[in-house]
Amino acid sequence: MESRKFHFASALTPQGWLSDVTVSVDGQGMISTVQTGAGEGAERLSGIAVPAMPNVHSHAHQRFMLGLAERAGPGADSFWTWREAMYGFALRLSPEDLEAVAAQLYVEMLKSGFSVVGEFQYLHHQPDGTPYADPAEMSLRCFAAAQHAGIGITILPTLYAFGGFGGQDPVAGQRRFLNKAERFLKIVDNLSIQAGGHALRHVGISPHSLRAVTPELLREVISALPENAPIHVHVAEQVKEVEDCLAFSGRRPVELLMQHFDLSDRWTAIHATHMTAAETAALARSGAIAGLCPTTEANLGDGIFPATGFMGERGAIAIGSDSHITVSPAEDLRMLEYSQRLRDLTRNALAGGPGRSTGRSLYDAALTGGARSMRQPVGAIAPGLRADITILDAAHPLLAGRAGDAALDTWIFSGGNALVKDVIVGGAHVVKDRHHIHEETIARDFRAALRRLDT
Ligand code: ZN
Repeated sequence: MESRKFHFASALTPQGWLSDVTVSVDGQGMISTVQTGAGEGAERLSGIAVPAMPNVHSHAHQRFMLGLAERAGPGADSFWTWREAMYGFALRLSPEDLEAVAAQLYVEMLKSGFSVVGEFQYLHHQPDGTPYADPAEMSLRCFAAAQHAGIGITILPTLYAFGGFGGQDPVAGQRRFLNKAERFLKIVDNLSIQAGGHALRHVGISPHSLRAVTPELLREVISALPENAPIHVHVAEQVKEVEDCLAFSGRRPVELLMQHFDLSDRWTAIHATHMTAAETAALARSGAIAGLCPTTEANLGDGIFPATGFMGERGAIAIGSDSHITVSPAEDLRMLEYSQRLRDLTRNALAGGPGRSTGRSLYDAALTGGARSMRQPVGAIAPGLRADITILDAAHPLLAGRAGDAALDTWIFSGGNALVKDVIVGGAHVVKDRHHIHEETIARDFRAALRRLDT
């Protein structure tokens, strides 16, 4: 790639909001300078530039289910009945289907202002449980989809060995997910080889949950990983999971996780919805990132994350679109804030102090936590970081008369995805005037995959 320059009407930088800004990008897609004034030969994008957001929690295959689980069942609907429906879908996908749905999803992520996806990938084997010739086949399809879409990816192959706490046998619906240490580490190795030399790829792991692994198995796997490999784990998403964990161990899930592992910013606790005040403070102080998926958590009826307590203890947060019921950094941050307002009968719950913008505080927090969670050099428009930039449409009527934090608040609380005009990832201009450069071919392949699954 050649070096390039982009000019913006304004940009959110570590020095605050700057007007009339030129960002220079080197041949590796990294930002070399950020300067005021129109640089010579700069491409004029004229909008409001903000750092693009990492999306730290994705199960790409669940994108197929949208609109198919919003119908009342004969009994009480719950997370667990939703999971049965999801397993039914997950059991039928071919590698081609997964690549097609992931590419479509990643285009949608880019068009909403995300630039990196954390793919928590647990579909490893053929529908009957037999491994593919390359045991990393399905995760490699996510790499291919990310490359086609032009999004950064931290692939997190899922370690899933058991059906419940204490090493219970898995159920039939889980047979595509299952590995023990040796075969799982082969998947990690194969992915690491394919990530080598790619500026937009990184590899970590995702122990599915404390139900699906034992501490001994997880320790064995972690001991074989490079130190910069991030670890993501679902924890305390559901009340039943907390009850099962208490019955098994006498401890709550976050307590149990912290008892067995020395958490740090290498760890991302996905959901962490159901915590006591003591767990909330301990998780915040551990440095682990809380990977929050507010629109999915609302859709699944999971509960409300204790964000005021967690962020009050300086806990790090990041956001993910998880089941992709909606794909929008603005909507997930909005839902996070609104959940606290509805619970506490208050306003601007997460602004962090008098006079501060709620949108800005949430956006800054999710950028910092997201970059750390993904272990990618993103999260700010600054020299030395990758040029991952989202450009808001300054000419949109909703942004008339709005600048700086007021523009960011208008995006997050009012305009949402409609305000995202352009997106740059690693210096490549992948969304131009609301159009992804490959969206027609990717949508065609996605529709073909849906037709295959319907027959
Ligand atoms: Zn998840």
